[in-house]
Amino acid sequence: MKRIALLSQRLANQIAAGEVVERPASVVKELLENSLDAGAGRIDVEIEQGGSKLIRIRDDGQGINKNDLALALSRHATSKIADLDDLENIASLGFRGEALASISSVSRLQLISRAMDAEDAGGWLVEAEGQSMTASLRPAPHTQGTSVEVRDLFFNTPARKKFLRTENTEFARIDEVIKRLALSRFDVAFTLRHNQRTVHQLQAARSIQERQRRIGLVCGPAFLEHAVYIDIEASGLRLWGWVCLPTFSRSQPDLQYFYVNGRVIRDKLVSHAVKQAYRDVLFGGRHPAFVLYLELQPALVDVNVHPTKHEVRFRDQRLVHDFLFRSLHQALADVRPDDHLSGHQQAGVAMADEATGLHQQAVLGFSVDPVTGEILSAPEFAFAQGSADINRPVGSSAAATFRQYSQAPVSPRVMADQAAVYQQLASDAEIPPLGFAIAQLHGIYILAQNQHGLIIVDMHAAHERITYEHMKTACDTQSVKAQPLLVPLSLAVSEAEADCAEQQANALQELGFAIERVAAESLVVRQVPVILARSNIEQLVRDVLSDVREHGQSERISAYRDELLATMACHGAVRANRQLSATEMNALLRDMERTERSGQCNHGRPTWVYLSLADLDKLFLRGR
Ligand code: ADP
Ligand code: MG
Repeated sequence: MKRIALLSQRLANQIAAGEVVERPASVVKELLENSLDAGAGRIDVEIEQGGSKLIRIRDDGQGINKNDLALALSRHATSKIADLDDLENIASLGFRGEALASISSVSRLQLISRAMDAEDAGGWLVEAEGQSMTASLRPAPHTQGTSVEVRDLFFNTPARKKFLRTENTEFARIDEVIKRLALSRFDVAFTLRHNQRTVHQLQAARSIQERQRRIGLVCGPAFLEHAVYIDIEASGLRLWGWVCLPTFSRSQPDLQYFYVNGRVIRDKLVSHAVKQAYRDVLFGGRHPAFVLYLELQPALVDVNVHPTKHEVRFRDQRLVHDFLFRSLHQALADVRPDDHLSGHQQAGVAMADEATGLHQQAVLGFSVDPVTGEILSAPEFAFAQGSADINRPVGSSAAATFRQYSQAPVSPRVMADQAAVYQQLASDAEIPPLGFAIAQLHGIYILAQNQHGLIIVDMHAAHERITYEHMKTACDTQSVKAQPLLVPLSLAVSEAEADCAEQQANALQELGFAIERVAAESLVVRQVPVILARSNIEQLVRDVLSDVREHGQSERISAYRDELLATMACHGAVRANRQLSATEMNALLRDMERTERSGQCNHGRPTWVYLSLADLDKLFLRGR
């Protein structure tokens, strides 16, 4: 039988390191948090070989007293809490007193510091030696603040070292840590160097413009161009930050930054609320982008639930979930065409670098490649990854189409009453944000002119969105108007479909349908929603039935109501090639200005784009 013995100090620390020190990025996170807790105004990070050779972090914080230096390296030693009350009202990022001890047990760590009120001129250096990790102290030059140098991470734990990935991958994770923390503290300057190359240089940001500059540097300019700024307060909770419109979505959840009381959080409750808020404006499988800050009383949230403190526990989960969902849902619904067109100022979003001209292009969901001058189509552009790709021609199909059209013998349908439009534009009467229609192009697009340029509307997508929003409102207020058909429509269907129509008669009634089963395989449609009365009723009813069968077999259809309404809206929306009169087109434009979420169709694609005169000038190389 084996005898019991106390673990050596180093081994105990190495075991603890298993929890907090997974890879170089976790070391960087712990050290940065210490610097922030020490009140640093500036933090410099230097990395070599993805962090496995060297991680050096220097700050100008309050430093560590010479007499405390040895203690800083021992486990369960912290200056941040003293009793349970402190733990329940925690304001610092660290408090477990484990990081330095753990890191120094699996690397060659040196801690140099000079305290704010130090009597000596220089600083002091401490490192831990041997199995018992005895601290040795000696003088070392340093200005006020602290430097921590971590060399050869996992040199003495080869099993851990094997789990490290390539230098680039490990560095990418470090970069992500820096970004997350840089967005949590705008008032702190950060620099990051990798293998002697500067990767980030972020000045302290105080004004809203400076903060937005940092957002742009961290999240890429395209993020900012599609974002709206929000600041909402209710029931003791405050949510502020930047949320991107659904037209700027990502294939991965890589631009999602969420902070609770300044702490970086990845939390299920939060993700769920956000997902719900974007639910019917985002294309399936796409991820929204946001930088959001939730603030609440520290006592209402427990941060001590996870060693790396990524998760939190809210005392009142329901309240927080509802608040997040409602704030975001409303923020997305509130975006109207004029928010974009007025250069985002109302929405509080900064202008990107005007010199690049990227601002207008991207905000308006339409972009011209600055090198080739080719038109980049809107959705492709919006889906382009990150800032580096912005200048890359992501697609020239639009340009090709454009050329093809310009040669083909087709003429746009110019409206007879165009003169009237010009009169409207010339008069003093206020010009609405989406302007007045001037033509219909190829039966697909509406061209409209406002004070500053050209608006192009995807007629079907826009109408579909509006119809969908109208129907949702009508259903919510139980005022779906139904219209009896002059001639009831008989439909031959399968027996299963007829069963379904019979079983779900009530639910269908709520949606505005009166459908009666007249035989085993035969239905009669007597009534449809007014808003859809002009669509192809047979196709509409067949599609709705197939949706109901798919979703609503047993349970309540209402859970799938929005999906049904979306199917219905698609039928109700104007089809391509239908000639619209000027009045109809203008009515659609006005409807778009009024309708919530009208900036994208039900699948998250944009419903309209805008080309300012400046954009057009650029196309023709005018004014260069
Ligand atoms: P914790 O942060 O949980 O307290 P750490 O092991 O990370 O535990 O740090 C131990 C202590 O060392 C801290 O409580 C703090 O007093 C001191 N310390 C660590 N890093 C710094 C720093 N950069 N500046 C000032 N003090 C520091
Ligand atoms: Mg710490």
